[in-house]
Amino acid sequence: MTSHRRAPPAAILLLSLALAGCTASRQVAPAAQATTSGWALAIHGGAGVMDRETMSADTQAAYRAALQAALDKGASVLNQGGSALDAAENVVRTLEDDPLFNAGRGAVFTAAGRNELDAAIMDGATVKAGAVAGITGTRNPISLARAVMEKSPHVMLIGAGAETFGQQNGVEQAAPAWFFTERRWQSLKRTLAERGLPVPARPPGVGPEPVPVAKTDQMPEDRKFGTVGVVVRDRAGHLAAATSTGGTTAKLWGRVGDVPIIGAGTYANDESCAVSATGTGEYFIRLGVAREICNLVTYKGLSLQQAADEVIQKRLTALGGDGGIIAVAPDGTLAWSFNTSGMYRARQSEGQAPVIGIFRNEP
Ligand code: ASP
Repeated sequence: MTSHRRAPPAAILLLSLALAGCTASRQVAPAAQATTSGWALAIHGGAGVMDRETMSADTQAAYRAALQAALDKGASVLNQGGSALDAAENVVRTLEDDPLFNAGRGAVFTAAGRNELDAAIMDGATVKAGAVAGITGTRNPISLARAVMEKSPHVMLIGAGAETFGQQNGVEQAAPAWFFTERRWQSLKRTLAERGLPVPARPPGVGPEPVPVAKTDQMPEDRKFGTVGVVVRDRAGHLAAATSTGGTTAKLWGRVGDVPIIGAGTYANDESCAVSATGTGEYFIRLGVAREICNLVTYKGLSLQQAADEVIQKRLTALGGDGGIIAVAPDGTLAWSFNTSGMYRARQSEGQAPVIGIFRNEP
């Protein structure tokens, strides 16, 4: 078979080198961390308005400890030779079970007072993906997403059908009370009051509202954010991405965010990169953020950090969107970029010390 591919003319090569140089000079995000072998892992726990002065030392310490625990979980899977996919699922399960984050237990509420959860997982080696949306009765939506990927002929299942599929495939169920936290309920009440909307009845099984309601300073931007995500490169060089969320506080019935939309909030391909996003999902869907970053790496020759900054610092910001991403390249290079004042984040490469941050002006 004859190949019709030709080497690009020198002028095009020069132009793309110049473009890459321009983007590099405008970089504003923290430097990427590269590795040539071994595993690499990055985690986010949501992005938003985060202020060092107003977040108490205890709250900061709680988030840093939770991120460290999630890193440890991923590292232990990868140190035993586990796959990127297994590490990604296990890290997200840990974060879903932690009520600090807006995923699984601790998820935000819809305007109707329910937890409706979205999640997705993608395997860079096979470019297979599984996603679920509008989940109300599955303890770990990320495991349901993985079951969709591995045990169904589909990529995405939603609502009651997805729950039935989970029950049929032995995915652990949970009652509404499992997901409930008073902090998120109070956040819903504040948001509904601002919008002049009625407050729904408390979910079944959670009991009456405590009097007085405990005051918390946790996560200043309480009304949204706190989604969790992970990107992984395993020792074999395979990539995976996984993301899980309760969405945005007081979202309307049936609203689906970017997280389960493959290419928007979650994407992985061994040929280019793996990305997990967090932020106001509507913007991430419109820009196809995760896939766009990988496309810039593949087709424009940008470095992972340049591609992440191009999409987050320039395109997302220009559209008025807010949030950030974590990413990993096939060689294990890790990157993150966000245009909010903070993003709960952590990264580690095999044999190196972990880096954990909350506020913008950290490593
Ligand atoms: N991206 C999520 C959504 O829009 C929310 C978040 O990341 O905080 O559903």
